[in-house]
Amino acid sequence: MNEKIIWGKTQFPLINNKEILYLDSAATTQKPLSVIERIAQYNESSHANIHRGAYSLSIEATDLYDEVREKVARLISAGARDEIVFTKGTTDSFNLLAFSIGETFINEGDEIVISLAEHHSNILPWQALARRKGAELKYLPVDDEGRIISSEIANVISPKTKIVSVTMVSNAIGTIQPVREVIKRAHELGALVALDGAQSVPHMKVDVQDLDCDFLAFSAHKMFGPTGVGVLYGKKEILEKMEPYQTGGDMIEYVELYESSYAPVPTKFEAGTPNIEGVVGFGAAIDFINELGIENIYEYEKKLTKYAYDKVSALPHITVHGASDIDERGSVVSFSVEDVHPHDVATVLDNYGLCLRAGHHCAQPLMKRLGLPSTTRASFSIYNNFEDIDKLCESLKEVRKWLGYN
Ligand code: PMP
Repeated sequence: MNEKIIWGKTQFPLINNKEILYLDSAATTQKPLSVIERIAQYNESSHANIHRGAYSLSIEATDLYDEVREKVARLISAGARDEIVFTKGTTDSFNLLAFSIGETFINEGDEIVISLAEHHSNILPWQALARRKGAELKYLPVDDEGRIISSEIANVISPKTKIVSVTMVSNAIGTIQPVREVIKRAHELGALVALDGAQSVPHMKVDVQDLDCDFLAFSAHKMFGPTGVGVLYGKKEILEKMEPYQTGGDMIEYVELYESSYAPVPTKFEAGTPNIEGVVGFGAAIDFINELGIENIYEYEKKLTKYAYDKVSALPHITVHGASDIDERGSVVSFSVEDVHPHDVATVLDNYGLCLRAGHHCAQPLMKRLGLPSTTRASFSIYNNFEDIDKLCESLKEVRKWLGYN
């Protein structure tokens, strides 16, 4: 492992130039200079609209855009680049999926299964689909650490289930989910499986062929890339059967007055001018990840998270939520400070220059299940180090004092 690269904050101008300690990478990561420069360089030398021009500059932009599709396919070990649909982000990917799958595969009386640990973006599109089609939305229950209860999987996923959509890692408390068990049961009964990879793809090797998931959604901005870019991976034979989500320019083959035919996948799902510079920047982010090695990132963050989990758990008046087994935890430590509202915790920490998110983390059903109104969350990336955790803990010791407690 190249420790110099892994440990350095110097490649991240914002972190390097400001007196802050950034601990909110589950919300969004900071960008390395290589990504920032790549976007500028694209705009300075290669920008044109894609898939349209017969001129060299447009062909160059088109090639750059499509090369990133190839990079994404390789990153998640997809079988073909056509299985990669560019979206605006994970939320957009789930809206696309729920709409398009719904049009093709979901009828009245069918069941849709998600878990109690989902981000709202993997709940609301399914609620809307269930309402639209008269289908039933069912939830896989979770235990006190927010983990899907394995013994309940067979009870909840039934022969009526058409699609199961679950997260690989909880954004709110970091628990890694037993998705292989979910996929196995769902496939035994002929149901499709979508995975939310927003908190897994940036931190660990995700191999869609090995997992055998049918869909995977994730966002570029949580993996050193720009906002407004995401991915929906889908098995090609299923994508081909799905209706487009949005219609208009770019996604067509022929347009007649009253009927039109669509372009092949993935273009069928990419109506309108996409975020070309964002996709190009995403390509640079994937290069950055590949340079570090996703396995190295995983190992480094795991050590860091274990150190943080042990150290924060040992502080008085603090409870850390989620998996106690480090092998079942992503790069997140979410906690409560006795007597202090999570927003106050984050505000006090802000006074020490620490950036942590507080709230329900867009996972209200999970918070309700765990009996928590909200939590304060520290989440890590490769620019964090062990000193950061020490500083977090020193600052946490001050929180109750600020509010007049011992
Ligand atoms: N799912 C999970 C697990 C997430 O952490 C997030 C972002 N917090 C999302 C979905 C939504 O991602 P985006 O806001 O990029 O659409």
